[in-house]
Amino acid sequence: MVSKNLSIKTAKNPALNPEIIKVSADIDQVACDGGHPTLGHPLTYYTFAGVDRIECLYCDRVFIRKSK
Ligand SMILES: [Zn+2]
Repeated sequence: MVSKNLSIKTAKNPALNPEIIKVSADIDQVACDGGHPTLGHPLTYYTFAGVDRIECLYCDRVFIRKSK
């Protein structure tokens, strides 16, 4: 007897699925508002101060600055 268990939950919330945004090396500042009309957040600016990777505090988006 074969019992198929297909009760896999695929309830992925896009807001909880971190997005990776790559920006060019000459960008010093990025802005993030969550990118979603209802699940977004207030527009927040982040500066690449000595780092090439910024994680948004609100939506976990990751901004990566390309190295030259
Ligand atoms: Zn964000």
